[in-house]
Amino acid sequence: MAVEIFYEKDCKPEVIQGKKVAIIGYGSQGHAHALNLMDSGVDVRVGLRESSASAEKAREAGLKVVDVDTAAEEADVIMILTPDETQPKVYEEHIAKHLKPGDTLAFAHGFNIHYGYIKAPEDVNVIMVAPKGPGHIVRRQYTEGSGVPDLVCVQQDATGDAWDVAMSYAWGLGGARSGLIKSTFKDETEEDLFGEQAVLCGGLVEMIKAGFETLTEAGYPEELAYFEVYHEMKMIVDLMYESGIHFMNYSISNTAEYGEYYAGPKVINAESRRAMKEILARIQDGSFAQEFVDDCNNGHKWLLEQREAINSHPIEKTGEKIRSMFSWIKK
Ligand code: NAD
Ligand code: MG
Ligand code: MG
Repeated sequence: MAVEIFYEKDCKPEVIQGKKVAIIGYGSQGHAHALNLMDSGVDVRVGLRESSASAEKAREAGLKVVDVDTAAEEADVIMILTPDETQPKVYEEHIAKHLKPGDTLAFAHGFNIHYGYIKAPEDVNVIMVAPKGPGHIVRRQYTEGSGVPDLVCVQQDATGDAWDVAMSYAWGLGGARSGLIKSTFKDETEEDLFGEQAVLCGGLVEMIKAGFETLTEAGYPEELAYFEVYHEMKMIVDLMYESGIHFMNYSISNTAEYGEYYAGPKVINAESRRAMKEILARIQDGSFAQEFVDDCNNGHKWLLEQREAINSHPIEKTGEKIRSMFSWIKK
C-alpha cells in the first residue's frame, strides 16, 4: 500500500494565513508550532493557564499569550498541544463551549480522538498535523530552512475544505518543505503507539538493559559493557539512518555481520514476535489506552515507579560516569 506524499506546491498558504490560530500549550510541540506559524505569517495566539511558567517565554519570543478560553474563543483553528492525558479535561473545561460551526480542532497525535476520549461536535473539522520528530527539531529545522515531515489526516470534514486547512497548517509548520504524508487518525495513533512501545523506546531500552545485565552478571566490567551495548548503538543507528542496513553491514566487520545474522533471530525470536502481535492487539482494541488513562487518573503511580526503577539502574550510573569522563558529548 503506497502512501501519498505532498510538498509545498500542493499547499495553499493563504488558507491558514486567513485564519486565527490558537496553540494550546507551549511545550515541546507547542513552542515549535506557535513560532513556525508566526514566522510563516499566520495570526497565532498561545493559550496557557494563568499559572503557566511558559507564558513569559512565549511573550519574550514575540507571541501573543492569552488564557485557554480566550484563545479557543478567538480562534478558527485550535491546535491542542498539552500532554495527551490532559487533553480531555482541557477540551471539556476550556474549549468545547467556544467551538463555532466551521471551526477546526487540530491535534499532533490521534490518541484522544481515535479512542473517543474527546468527542468533537459534527459541525467542526477534526484534523491532525503530526510532525515525525521532537518539537525542538521541528523548530530548529524550520529556522534552518528545512522542515520535519508531517503526517496529515482529516477525521471529520465539516466545511468541505478540511484537507486544505490541514495541508496549509502543515505548510506553515514547515513540514511541506520535506514532505507531507497523508494518513488517518487510526493509522497514526496505532502505529505511533506500537513503534514507541515495541521498538523505539520499549524494545530498545529493554534490549540494551538485557545486554548490559548479561555481560555484567557474567563478570565483565560495567564500563566496557556500557560501551558495547549502549554507546555504540548511536553509531550503528546513524549508519542505518543515513545509508541503509546494507551500508551499516558494509561498514562493520564480516565477523560482526555474521554474528548479526546468527544471533539477531535468536534474540528477536518467535516468542518476541508473538509479544509484538499481542502489544499491537492491545493497542488496536483500546485496552492499552484505557490502562494508560487509568494510571494517569491514579496519579501516574505505575509510570512513576517504573521511571524510578530505570533511573536507579546501574546502567544509568555507569553511563553518567562515562559520559562525564569523555569529551565526545558536552552538555
Ligand atoms: P509537553 O509536555 O512538552 O508540553 C505540554 C504543554 O502543555 C506545556 O506547555 C504545559 O505547560 C501545558 N499544559 C499542561 N497541562 C495543561 C493544562 N491543563 N492546560 C493548559 N496547558 C497545559 O507536550 P508535547 O510533548 O509537546 O505533546 C503535545 C502533543 O504533541 C501530544 O498530543 C503529543 O502526543 C504530540 N506529539 C509530541 C511530540 C514531541 O515531540 N514531544 C511529537 C509528536 C506529537
Ligand atoms: Mg508517541
Ligand atoms: Mg564490538
